[in-house]
Amino acid sequence: MVLPIVAYGDPVLRKKAKDITKDYPNFTELLDNMFETMYNAHGVGLAAPQIGLLIRLFIVDAEPFAEDDEISEEEAAVLKTLKKPFINPEIIEETGEEWAFNEGCLSIPDIREDVFRKETIKIRYYDINFNEHVETYSGLAARVIQHEYDHIEGILFTDKLSSLKKRLIKGKLNNISSGKIRVDYRMRFPLAKKGR
Ligand SMILES: [Zn+2]
Repeated sequence: MVLPIVAYGDPVLRKKAKDITKDYPNFTELLDNMFETMYNAHGVGLAAPQIGLLIRLFIVDAEPFAEDDEISEEEAAVLKTLKKPFINPEIIEETGEEWAFNEGCLSIPDIREDVFRKETIKIRYYDINFNEHVETYSGLAARVIQHEYDHIEGILFTDKLSSLKKRLIKGKLNNISSGKIRVDYRMRFPLAKKGR
């Protein structure tokens, strides 16, 4: 089932999410719905707060980035297989130089901006069977994970922009919150007037 994606301005996107336990209700169904919702919106990642759940969970499918001509074969191979949920994740370490990448977000349609983040991350998380993993990712793979990870910490990519950039997009962000925007996937707008 395709779930509505929560738009910028909803307080659920601003809270730190909580860990879950093995017995989280209807978990398989939740994951199926999240993947369906992400693919329907042509996203490469989706975090639980974006569907209104304050739990430490996000999914990624970075395969579309593997098509990028500018990346190495090794990086493309990683991106192709980076398709999974991250449960109760914790970024343990972020290292390397900061680099800019033009990011977007399914909760903030039609806005794309360059965001600086560190090159490499080490992350601990649980898989669907609640087995623990510690993995290291770099480049675009790290980027997708860093963006989604921020969501479960209540952080959005627009927070990382310069104050000038923030001022320039303020009007657009207000329009998104109030639903004055055309989007080709299901969304829930916090300030939209009823009956529109
Ligand atoms: Zn996002």
